Amino acid sequence: MSTVGSPVLLLAPLYPPTQAELEAGYRVVRLWEAADAGAQLDAIAADCRVAVTHSGRGIDRATIERLPRLELVANFGVGVDAIDLDACRSRGIAVTNTPDVLTEDVADLALALLLAAVRRIPQGDRFVREGRWAKGPMGLTQSLQRRKVGIVGLGRIGAAIARRCAAFNTELGYFGPRRKAGVDYRYFDDIVALAGWADVLVAACPGGPDTAKLVSRAALEALGAEGVFVNIARGSVVDQPALVELLVAGRLGAAGLDVFDDEPNVPPELFALENVTLQPHQGSATHPTRAAMGRLVLDNVAAWAAGRPLATPV
Ligand code: NAP
Repeated sequence: MSTVGSPVLLLAPLYPPTQAELEAGYRVVRLWEAADAGAQLDAIAADCRVAVTHSGRGIDRATIERLPRLELVANFGVGVDAIDLDACRSRGIAVTNTPDVLTEDVADLALALLLAAVRRIPQGDRFVREGRWAKGPMGLTQSLQRRKVGIVGLGRIGAAIARRCAAFNTELGYFGPRRKAGVDYRYFDDIVALAGWADVLVAACPGGPDTAKLVSRAALEALGAEGVFVNIARGSVVDQPALVELLVAGRLGAAGLDVFDDEPNVPPELFALENVTLQPHQGSATHPTRAAMGRLVLDNVAAWAAGRPLATPV
């Protein structure tokens, strides 16, 4: 990797091997360690042309505006909802992300949450650990076989979830901005209609203002007291207060949640609910996938430094 003299702004810690390799090749400025972040940005403003961040941190307009020579924002993660894309576009700043390499792991976790909800796996685990089995059987659960699964956002991850669901003999439907060519799953142009049809609704669309509260109270009510909601997309895509309220009231059957509004804060009402499985945003959090994501970040920065086409522009 070539050494670039101008500073690379790193907004938050990365997967450690990726950060180590970045720091070996570039003069990296760790913004989160600065006593005064504004003063740090001003100190590098004259020659900082690259910023590296991750999906949970992003980069806001105010930070972008303090860096008049910025040319590239390289994101560790596929979701770019925390990056002010309008601010980047208006300045001609390129943005890269890490698509594809995380798709299968995220889809695996979606199925794990789905199965946990339908087959009540965490409840069974607690039942055994707490010694309740000796006093009698746990009772029956729902089955995933021949159930209807509705996917919100049939992109890379949504399609990978659908492929896995097909192996469980489910019927598949989806909602998105447009019908997908060559896909024979049932298309719904209305999310409430999809939720009313589905036994299980899985959110796999991007976050950001366009999808805020897309999984609305009405959609969750349509899913109903036997329905299961799985979210591996973003907390912002669901009406979280309505989700919590309906789960507490028993008007939504179960949920498997990897993502939340205002992470790492999780509504405490969820902790008491038997029918909810919670994950701390672990969709892509495996060693091989994080290494592959890091490789893409490094490739993009190296391509920019060498004047080559970026590997994965947004
Ligand atoms: P992708 O290939 O771009 O797929 C996104 C899909 O969402 C596309 O099919 C798109 O439809 C659809 N979509 C766009 N706007 C929509 C809307 N308003 N309503 C419904 N669907 C909409 O992206 P991906 O790689 O599958 O990633 C999807 C998202 O997963 C990311 O943006 C990120 O938020 C989330 N994610 C979460 C984790 C985790 O750890 N939990 C990890 C990685 C990613 P068109 O194709 O018709 O445009």
